Amino acid sequence: MVHMLDLVADCRNCAGLCCVALPFTRSADFAFSKDGGEPCPNLAPDFGCGVHDRLRPLGMIGCTTYDCFGAGQAVTQGLYDGRDWRSDPARASEMFEVFGSVRRLHEMLFYLTDARDELIRTAAEDNLLERISSLVATTESLTLTTPYDVLGVDVDAHRLEVGPLLREASVALRAHLEQGVDVDRVRRDDLAGQGLSDLDLRAADLRGKLLIGADLHDADLRGADLLGADLRGCDVRGADLRNALFLTQMQVNAATGDGATRINPTLTRPSHWA
Ligand code: SF4
Repeated sequence: MVHMLDLVADCRNCAGLCCVALPFTRSADFAFSKDGGEPCPNLAPDFGCGVHDRLRPLGMIGCTTYDCFGAGQAVTQGLYDGRDWRSDPARASEMFEVFGSVRRLHEMLFYLTDARDELIRTAAEDNLLERISSLVATTESLTLTTPYDVLGVDVDAHRLEVGPLLREASVALRAHLEQGVDVDRVRRDDLAGQGLSDLDLRAADLRGKLLIGADLHDADLRGADLLGADLRGCDVRGADLRNALFLTQMQVNAATGDGATRINPTLTRPSHWA
């Protein structure tokens, strides 16, 4: 059975796939541009990042907010038995394409596993738990085959199956919680830069909301649905994010917290929250 920890990036067992396969553009998130398939000049011979400790001061914030959901090690070790794009250049572009598909499937697995674990924890909706668990197993099986089979997966079609079930799980799980008294304050989709500090937003639906630069310090976000919410530069100092639904490491890394911010133990407290 897939566990949340299986979906955490393990860069030591990856061949630096995200640092090669993905393109990025010079911007507030990246100090320079590169094409997809082109190795980042900072990538070390051992596939580690040569500037890992200085990413933010060097203007590479985008690298600190990217998460492969464990796809890197799954592809390098699981699908290619430790072979990599340097030692097997003829298969490099195939590896990058496989990585893209597995990463998307792992992201779905992360959300499904989060929903499954919350349904187990709250003992809510047996039938829904069964359907989510079944889709977890199906999604996992799509990633545990061969590179050839992975490339044959219609990831977009699978996503259409996953999306409605995640929505159903969100509604069911939040219905079991007391709703925060301030949830009406966050109905709008665009909440960028808004002052939302100290609000009681328990079980709020913040799915897909634009919260760039919003002030959520000391807000109570327990049980809020944060799927796809843009938390870049969002102030979550002192906020309570425990059991927030679908909260990813990427979102946590993109926000600004502190020692008083509360998150689930499955997530890592970013170094810039010190
Ligand atoms: S700067 Fe480091 S983490 Fe970012 S792409 Fe380059 S090698 Fe990878």
